[in-house]
Amino acid sequence: MPKLKKINNPKKKSTRPSWEEYFLNIAEIVSSRSTCDRLHVGAVIVKNKAILSTGYNGSPRGLPHCDDIGHEIAGGHCVRTIHAEANALVQAARHGTAVDGATLFLTNSPCYDCFKMIVNAGIKEVIYENFYMSRYEASKKVLALAKKAQVKINCFKKKHA
Ligand SMILES: [Zn+2]
Ligand SMILES: [Zn+2]
Repeated sequence: MPKLKKINNPKKKSTRPSWEEYFLNIAEIVSSRSTCDRLHVGAVIVKNKAILSTGYNGSPRGLPHCDDIGHEIAGGHCVRTIHAEANALVQAARHGTAVDGATLFLTNSPCYDCFKMIVNAGIKEVIYENFYMSRYEASKKVLALAKKAQVKINCFKKKHA
């Protein structure tokens, strides 16, 4: 049996991602399936380091996409799509997957409406990469609500982008 040589170079920094980076990288790949090019958002619901559900922002199932027929603008925002985090929760419901106590990884912080859903779904922690100034200018209210609802919400900046 040939012996395996250790070829680690101690000078070379490890590029192995942390768990946060790993799931945020996956959220970014998920976001590439978005069908509204105003903003591509990806969501990954995780419990005990296992992925329970994913979602990206897109039209309701079977309906035309922004990318094909243009946006549906109301009050300066595109309202056609279901947001990524809502889709991840809906996907879990569709398959009968409990998300109580799970962590939600997001490319962009949740809007006020989605955050209220996150609270009631039993998500205990939200980790996002970019802050999103959402509609109703209520993004900052999300942080205050998180505190009251005892849901952790934190921005995470990736080391290996
Ligand atoms: Zn759109
Ligand atoms: Zn939302």
